Amino acid sequence: MSFVPFDDRDGWIWMNGEFVPWREAKTHVLTHALHYGSSVFEGERMYNGEIFKLREHTERLFRSAEMLDFQIPYSVAEIDQACKDTCARAGLTDCYIRPVAFRGAEQIGVSAPNSKIHVAIAAWEWPSYFDAATKMKGIRLAWAKYRRPDPLTAPSAAKAAGLYMICTISKMAAEREGYADAMMLDWRGYVAEATGANVFFIKDGVVHTPPVDAILDGITRQTVIELAKARCLEVVVRHIRPEELADFTECFVTGTAAEVTPVAEIGEYKFTPGALSKALMDDYSRLVRREAQSVAA
Ligand code: PMP
Repeated sequence: MSFVPFDDRDGWIWMNGEFVPWREAKTHVLTHALHYGSSVFEGERMYNGEIFKLREHTERLFRSAEMLDFQIPYSVAEIDQACKDTCARAGLTDCYIRPVAFRGAEQIGVSAPNSKIHVAIAAWEWPSYFDAATKMKGIRLAWAKYRRPDPLTAPSAAKAAGLYMICTISKMAAEREGYADAMMLDWRGYVAEATGANVFFIKDGVVHTPPVDAILDGITRQTVIELAKARCLEVVVRHIRPEELADFTECFVTGTAAEVTPVAEIGEYKFTPGALSKALMDDYSRLVRREAQSVAA
């Protein structure tokens, strides 16, 4: 597989209110965020010309910034518009959108009250590819080495760059062992989430998922809970101990990138991707595309 480096592409990146050529969207090595992790971001997806739940993503970006004690110097509506403009400028209709807000290089040091908050938005092609048959085989996950931190240890509800340090270490270690991803426990030892996706389990037709007290409150997670309820499925939001995984028959992860992806294995526990996972996977796929069409129409 060949990679096109992310700093060497054609196109435009929205940066601090204006479009700059893709290769010139740079920041200095003394950027505060690079040294101290003062950065928050979003991951969004456009289907058929419409960004799915854009407002929810932008609002989460702003909440994440507040948790890191900085303010994004734009309104939510301005960032929404900038995300749309970034896709439009590139002529993209099915893509991934990455807004990021961070403390700049104006001041270096742990405390940097005079640093400026920079905001950038990039979008790149992500075809609306959906191969249900392959997905239904289920992915394999290893147990992560690190645990999601106590909210008293880190702002664990934020989609903040710093929290991804343990995700990157865990996912790369899992991939080296041939797994697709890693499943993290939280600081108490409860099942938490994958490194970029939330997790659901099914037993006797009932859907179980962890509460958002140590994990990211995923927008796909919220959507899938609604979809399950619309199918009159019972959804139980509760703490799940790892040894309980032996009793669940189905498991899937959810996220903007993952959508709904069935899981075949987490460490020593095996699952059989089944009818309910498939139904929710199809419901989600239809929803993101239909919502796009109805807005575009
Ligand atoms: N947890 C983590 C750690 C993530 O990075 C993501 C992806 N943003 C998710 C969960 C899923 O969130 P969403 O459904 O909003 O993409």
